[in-house]
Amino acid sequence: MGRFSWSRLVDVTGFNKGDYIMADNQQMWKDLGMNLEMHDMLCEVLPGAIGDVFMSQENRPAAMDYFDMVLADVHGLRPAELVEFRKNGGKVFGTFCAYVPDEVIFAAGGIATGLCAGSQFWVPGGERYLPANTCPLIKAMLGARFDKTCPFYRLADVYIGETTCDGKKKAYEILGTDVPLHVMDLPQMKREKDYLKWADEIKDLIAVVEKTTGNKVTEENLAENIKKINVKRAALERLYKLRRNECVPISGTDTLLISQIAYYDDPERFATMVNKLCDELEQRVADGVSIAEGKKRILITGTPMAIPNWKLHNLVETSGGVVVCEETCTGTRYFENQVDESGKTMDEMIQNIANRYMGINCACFTPNTARADDVIRLAKDSKADGVIDVNLMFCQTYDIEGRSLEERLKAEGIPFLGLETDYTDNDAQQLKTRIGAFIEMLG
Ligand code: SF4
Ligand code: SF4
Repeated sequence: MGRFSWSRLVDVTGFNKGDYIMADNQQMWKDLGMNLEMHDMLCEVLPGAIGDVFMSQENRPAAMDYFDMVLADVHGLRPAELVEFRKNGGKVFGTFCAYVPDEVIFAAGGIATGLCAGSQFWVPGGERYLPANTCPLIKAMLGARFDKTCPFYRLADVYIGETTCDGKKKAYEILGTDVPLHVMDLPQMKREKDYLKWADEIKDLIAVVEKTTGNKVTEENLAENIKKINVKRAALERLYKLRRNECVPISGTDTLLISQIAYYDDPERFATMVNKLCDELEQRVADGVSIAEGKKRILITGTPMAIPNWKLHNLVETSGGVVVCEETCTGTRYFENQVDESGKTMDEMIQNIANRYMGINCACFTPNTARADDVIRLAKDSKADGVIDVNLMFCQTYDIEGRSLEERLKAEGIPFLGLETDYTDNDAQQLKTRIGAFIEMLG
């Protein structure tokens, strides 16, 4: 990763690594009680994967340097900041789902961080606790915790789960034997009473974060943090809109990385860096610079792609396609729709937060026809030539929903390909053949 000036980037971007510098990551990981031997095996594969997936791309925007840096030291830079934060009494909350509202955690002076689980490395560890026919994301969650090979899983003082799919619900019971865990009861329908119930759940979450941090969530700090997270969403929205241009200024693979980093970076710094990148991309569009001349525009929908799962994007973008939008939780579901900032009282603000999050269209809801509406709208807005619906193996809800989604897209005349995969590379060649044939069929 010789292209970075680490110290310059760390200075410019304001990372506070405290006592830790790159070379001291080992000490930090040891202090966190990690399994260093096993973690070394994970660290060995990452540079190769970064080189193959990211550095092999041509004409990348210069402002990707920041995200490359965060990725290359993914278990060092941000964890070191969180270690410093905890040393000073701060509390870290680990989250797993796009429905958990970061606003209330930051309002109480805590830090929310995503606990991503996108690597096959963690799956065997999870299979010690879960049936093999469980979604890889859930298995990786448990593997990352119990194998002690992820600093974020070690750092989080409290995990915040949610009752989304059945697999996650049962996995939280197991995780909860090892770490303090609060589960939010997410309604699975979208009636008025469900919106009210989610607001009630957010009140319970506030009680948990207040108790954990010792700080009160007030009208002032909640309003401030609603704005802060809205700024982050607006930056991502700006990035995604730039991809709609005929000249595609950034690859889907790079954008996916940014969406993944969104879950755990400092929100303000992240928004600044995304906006800086967008300035560069706007210039590219004005200059007619495209990274995807002659490529077919693909929208990806389906299950989330947690870091370091770049498999599908890499396959599409090395098979004659360019990903121009993701209708996923590592995509538009994460940032579309702002929290209404007009609330004055605590109750109004909490309801506004609840309304924004209940607007996410996850397959765990019934009915969930609005997701197909979203995919159609986004496919049109991003001028997609085709849609690929990609689901993690054993994810029943998204798998079943694939059929009605395909019907809706067919009725709109939008070409559709449904795929199922896991975190291994066993099916990569077969997927590449299918994706290649789909892209060729797009003409
Ligand atoms: S797909 Fe559903 S359950 Fe999974 S992160 Fe997204 S909203 Fe949460
Ligand atoms: S991908 Fe599906 S099965 Fe896996 S955690 Fe998400 S909703 Fe659950």
